[in-house]
Amino acid sequence: MKLILLGPPGAGKGTQAVYITEAYQIPSISTGEMLRAAVAAKTPLGKEAKTLMEKGDLVPDDLILRMLSERLLESDCKNGYILDGVPRTLVQAEGMDKLNIEVDKVLNFDIPLDEVVARLSGRRVCPTCQATYHVLFQPLKEEGICDKCGSKLTTRKDDEPASIENRMEVYLAQTQPLITYYKEKGKLFDINALGSKDEVEARIQEILGEPV
Ligand code: AMP
Repeated sequence: MKLILLGPPGAGKGTQAVYITEAYQIPSISTGEMLRAAVAAKTPLGKEAKTLMEKGDLVPDDLILRMLSERLLESDCKNGYILDGVPRTLVQAEGMDKLNIEVDKVLNFDIPLDEVVARLSGRRVCPTCQATYHVLFQPLKEEGICDKCGSKLTTRKDDEPASIENRMEVYLAQTQPLITYYKEKGKLFDINALGSKDEVEARIQEILGEPV
């Protein structure tokens, strides 16, 4: 099963990618996470991406396509994969087609943009184990501390208000056109991304079928 999770930042793609990975036994590939790891490791790619990411701008398409195609060569991808946050532009989608990166289904996380802005502003992340939390929707045992590993939680720089606004503009201008691109190929499935994690999981299961 080869999937793309499409939708604005904060729609719940990352959360549902964890569910799909466990339920259907396919790895989740998040270009955002790969880039954050490169920034943390201060690699040449990380240095190039850092400022763009902090502002909420996109990283150049050729870098993304190279990073993605290398990752897909790894053995865990041979039975399928979930692409979370990629493609983000028409150039990336067309580039993936040229590179013969196969896609069976595109799950389009459908959600009003004012809802995702509220979600992103309250998002907190654990810099150690990468767990994510929300100040309103997911109360912590101890405020500001990761329930899973005890580290102090942080706010992603691109979850600050100016970056969130820019990310929404970038989504509308560059990523939303992909909905039509995949609809025309007959691969698009809309998912209502409002509601609880379990409700969204159930909607995904209706489209993907019984877990393995
Ligand atoms: P995400 O975690 O998917 O929200 O990605 C965080 C940031 O990484 C984005 O705001 C972009 O700066 C960069 N990024 C992630 N995926 C892509 C992509 N497919 N194309 C361009 N930039 C990306």
